[in-house]
Amino acid sequence: MRIFDDPSGSGKLWFANLTAADGTPVGYDPQRRAFVESSPFCVNRNRIGCNWIAREPGTLCQSCAMTALTPDASVTNAVPNWSQTESAKRWVLDNLGQWGWFRPEDSGIHPVFHMLAEGPTPVSMGHIEGVVTISVAEADDVVRTARRRALDEPHRSLIGHMRHEIAHMIWWRLSRNQDFLHDFRRLFGDERLDYPAALQRHYHHGPPTDWSQYYLTAYASAHPHEDWAETAAHLLHLTDIADSFTASGLMTPTLPASDWKPYEEPDTARLIHFAISVGLGINHVNRSMGLPDLYPFVICPAAHQKLDFAHKWLRLGAVGN
Ligand SMILES: [Zn+2]
Ligand SMILES: [Zn+2]
Repeated sequence: MRIFDDPSGSGKLWFANLTAADGTPVGYDPQRRAFVESSPFCVNRNRIGCNWIAREPGTLCQSCAMTALTPDASVTNAVPNWSQTESAKRWVLDNLGQWGWFRPEDSGIHPVFHMLAEGPTPVSMGHIEGVVTISVAEADDVVRTARRRALDEPHRSLIGHMRHEIAHMIWWRLSRNQDFLHDFRRLFGDERLDYPAALQRHYHHGPPTDWSQYYLTAYASAHPHEDWAETAAHLLHLTDIADSFTASGLMTPTLPASDWKPYEEPDTARLIHFAISVGLGINHVNRSMGLPDLYPFVICPAAHQKLDFAHKWLRLGAVGN
């Protein structure tokens, strides 16, 4: 994610800012990828802190308009949790918009989001025919950490959920293209395998002992659909690590050029090499504050190949898909 200019002409703004340093309200224009002072703001601004602008006064922004179901506000913390979830969604939509996905000019199907609060029964997150279901309870640090530990995951975040579930939705769109489907099955396997049975086997028996030789994560080994969603999510993680690093003005000898733009990079190996080198450095910096690693994953050669495939198709963008 880049860092933005304050529209008043002085200072910088971060993607989630609602005001400039002097308190002037600002809004983010996702079409121009810039902050503005004077446009109508999204009507969700006061309710959940959405900082995007709307086309007309009194309407929702592009991102909030994609949410068809909002959580039951009577559930404890549902609204603040929803606020954080929408914030992660805006971030990921802006990332994907750089490759043309889900912008107004994308004539393909756009995702519809169901943002659900949890009662006594957990909400299962997933994608079905364009509808992405997200549990806003995962915004709660205690809930998310408990689940991360129970599932033995090295990393679990709202932004990660958003990338993973939207990746399923993108697969659904790409799978109408026979070239994509043919190459996908060659690399990831046949996604027509019984999905519920595969997940049941994964949760009962765990991943194969040698999963790390073939997959990015243990969960990716459960089924080709999950392998794709994990791979595409990691491609987004790595591209955005590279983009945020370059936007921050930090330097490293591995930086390809001072004006390098990771979202425009066609060479997957170059992009991953840079992102991993940055990730390793920041893992070490994080340890100075007792924080978890930024990117606690090792990428095997098979996963590299799959990342290359996902990069090619995501970069082709929404055009014709
Ligand atoms: Zn909004
Ligand atoms: Zn999944």
